[in-house]
Amino acid sequence: MNLSARLAEERRARLAAERLLELKQAELFAANRKLGKHARALSHEIHETRAEITEVRSENRLVKSQLGLAHEKIELVEGQLWKALQTMRDGFAMYNSDARLELANPAFLAPFEGIDSVGPGASYRHVLEMLVEEGIVDLQGERRRQWLNRMQARWEMDPIPPEIIRLWTGQFFKIQDRRMPDGGVVSLCVDITELMRMWSAIEELPDGFVIYDAEDRLLMCNEPYRTLYSDSAPAIIPGASFEDILRYGLSQGQYAEAVGREEAWLEERLAAHRSAEQEMEQQLGDGRWLRIYERALSDGGRVGLRIDITEAKRTQQELVEAKRRAEQASHAKSAFLANMSHEIRTPMNGVVGMAELLRDSALSDEQALYVDTIRNSGEALLVIINDILDYSKIEAARLQLKPEPFDLERIVHEVLLLLQPTAREKGLELLVDYDMFLPTRFIGDPGRVRQIFTNLVGNAVKFTNEGHVLIRITGRALEDGRSAVHVTVEDTGIGIPPDKIEHIFGEFNQVEDDRNRQFEGTGLGLAITKRLTDLMGGEVWVESEPGRGSCFGLRVELPVDEPAQIEAAALPDSLREVLVVDDHVLNRAILTRQMETVGLTVSVCRTAAEALGRMDEPPDLIIAEQDLPDMSGLDLARQLARAQPGLPVMLLSPEPNTLKASAQTCGVRAVLPKPAPRRALLQALETMETDPPPAEPQPQPQPPARPSALPTFRSRRGGAGAPAATPARPLDVILAEDNRTNQMVFRKMAEGLGRPLSLRLAGNGFEAVEAYRKRRPDLIFMDISMPRMDGKQATQQIRALEPPGAHVPIIAVTAHAMTGDRDGILEAGLDDYLTKPLRKQELARLIDTWAGREAQPP
Ligand code: ADP
Repeated sequence: MNLSARLAEERRARLAAERLLELKQAELFAANRKLGKHARALSHEIHETRAEITEVRSENRLVKSQLGLAHEKIELVEGQLWKALQTMRDGFAMYNSDARLELANPAFLAPFEGIDSVGPGASYRHVLEMLVEEGIVDLQGERRRQWLNRMQARWEMDPIPPEIIRLWTGQFFKIQDRRMPDGGVVSLCVDITELMRMWSAIEELPDGFVIYDAEDRLLMCNEPYRTLYSDSAPAIIPGASFEDILRYGLSQGQYAEAVGREEAWLEERLAAHRSAEQEMEQQLGDGRWLRIYERALSDGGRVGLRIDITEAKRTQQELVEAKRRAEQASHAKSAFLANMSHEIRTPMNGVVGMAELLRDSALSDEQALYVDTIRNSGEALLVIINDILDYSKIEAARLQLKPEPFDLERIVHEVLLLLQPTAREKGLELLVDYDMFLPTRFIGDPGRVRQIFTNLVGNAVKFTNEGHVLIRITGRALEDGRSAVHVTVEDTGIGIPPDKIEHIFGEFNQVEDDRNRQFEGTGLGLAITKRLTDLMGGEVWVESEPGRGSCFGLRVELPVDEPAQIEAAALPDSLREVLVVDDHVLNRAILTRQMETVGLTVSVCRTAAEALGRMDEPPDLIIAEQDLPDMSGLDLARQLARAQPGLPVMLLSPEPNTLKASAQTCGVRAVLPKPAPRRALLQALETMETDPPPAEPQPQPQPPARPSALPTFRSRRGGAGAPAATPARPLDVILAEDNRTNQMVFRKMAEGLGRPLSLRLAGNGFEAVEAYRKRRPDLIFMDISMPRMDGKQATQQIRALEPPGAHVPIIAVTAHAMTGDRDGILEAGLDDYLTKPLRKQELARLIDTWAGREAQPP
């Protein structure tokens, strides 16, 4: 081998070695790099692990400290709990599964004070034995052994039933034991002394007491409750539903009122039970009565009370029965009184009538005085009898209102007309202020309305010695076509003391003292007024000031028959200004208001002299009252006729009829009654022309059915008045009257009138018709109540017999009781009426009015 070859070989070998070296170096480098990366990863891991360890350590520290805190807290709570248990009023104890005391609070241990063996470690049995042996528990009659065994046996039950024990101290404890999962027992002893006291009080109640829960289950009831519902007692157990208890009771006939309708009764009873408050009466099967009270409780339950009211009920029934009998007796008495007064009245009419006749015969002064006394006493007695009759009728419930259309204002004026003489005697002014806008035609019982006014206004006149009596009537239309009518009767009389005010509407009650013993009366007037107003659904009251006067008020609601008609007043154009001459301030005010309402201008003055002084500017009309302070109204008219010819004058007088003749001669246009009815006043104004009236014969006074309130000048316009014919032959009169005395009184009175008269007597309606058949008379006087055929029937028969156009005036002769039937009488075909007892003057007036005149059929 050559060198070069060797060299080449060496070089090749070297090259190969170098390549190998290079390779190995690269491998080494790669391995190095890998190693570096791994080392880096490793150091990262180490770092992370370290961080975790730090975290875990700190967490560990936190947990440890929290644990410490929790421990502290538990200790605190434990301490607090224990403290609470120690301060609790109720006893608390825990037994372990071996029935040995583990812990007990002082309240539990308190009854065992001084007995060291009762404490933690003591057995339940030992506790029981100590209770008995040391006399801590009051066994209330139970034997020791029995009690111990019962208490032991109860401990074995699951759940353990509650038990109430009573200690020698009188305290009550309710023991509630609960078994725990580990076999131990927690015992709670609650002091229920207060509750037991309440409960024993409830047990002591004479009444049944019961509580139901919100589901209507019986919570508790006392013994009286069970005793009252003795038939249902087996079902009355705590937990039973109200409905089940009722059903059981129903099956036992417990409830008298349910017999025969059990299901319906049950429905009603349950519904009542569910309503919020309940008060009712219940009759039990054994006849006893219970009053039931039930109230809802805030928790949805109900508490109830059952009171035995059997005794009260019996007394009540006896009272009702006694009241019924008393009322019956009172009705019988009233009926008797009504009959008696009716019977008494007939002879009284004879007494009064005969006295009146006797008075007209030749008597010495002394005799005349005696006769007057007889007559006045008789009349006074009649008033009393009439009051009693009315009152008895109302009491006996025999009085019924008879509603029909009537004229209220007219009634007021008619009542005043009757009272006018007394008022004039006493110098009293009677005033009426009837609201211009109030209707006057209403529907009601006119007789009874008149009676109310007669009583109120009559009293006002009776108890007033000077001043006035003012009747004010106002009203308000109601929606149903009725009006609320408001009346006041005001006087300036003696008044009524406050302590008597309540009294006077009672029966026979009078303000009895020295002041008014001078006033006669029955004390029934206001009682009747009150009863009548009650019957009408109204009210009556009084206000009064002793020494100054009284004001009686009355309010009734009446259907309106015809609306008010002021707008119908058509005054002559020439009538604008009116001068009122009247010295009474109220009168001036009333007249002024009335005339202003119809659109007139009114000026006023008090005396005739003042009026005459104003004649430089004369009004269109002067309205003067007759009784002026300085001269009479008539004299004023005379002077005016000279001073101011043609100036119309209207006079107002309480007695218009006596004035009319002379008034006409001095040119007075109208004489109106004072107070004047609105309608009369309006009619007078409507016909008031400025020209003087033509001289004309004096018309006759109107019969009362056609009111005298109509002004005289109406006759000018073809009015109702007609001159009375004085018949040459005797007046042919039939009197139908069953009572002989009354027949005689009538005959004597009629004969004493000084006009020729032939009287035919009929003893009843039948005979009256016969007498009429025989010969048509000029006039018939007809008693209303007669045997066989009464006056109304007889009149109807006569009317049926009458040929057309031949109307015989028939005048009813009635007793007071019939005055309410006045319109009924007129309806029956009679023309007028005369009230008993007969009075000569009245008889003369009626004969004058009707004799020789064919009445207009009504
Ligand atoms: P009498 O028949 O006594 O008038 P009333 O029942 O009508 O019976 O009245 C009862 C009593 O009321 C009267 O006796 C009187 O004392 C009193 N009284 C009634 N009205 C008035 C009045 N207007 N003024 C004063 N007292 C009155």
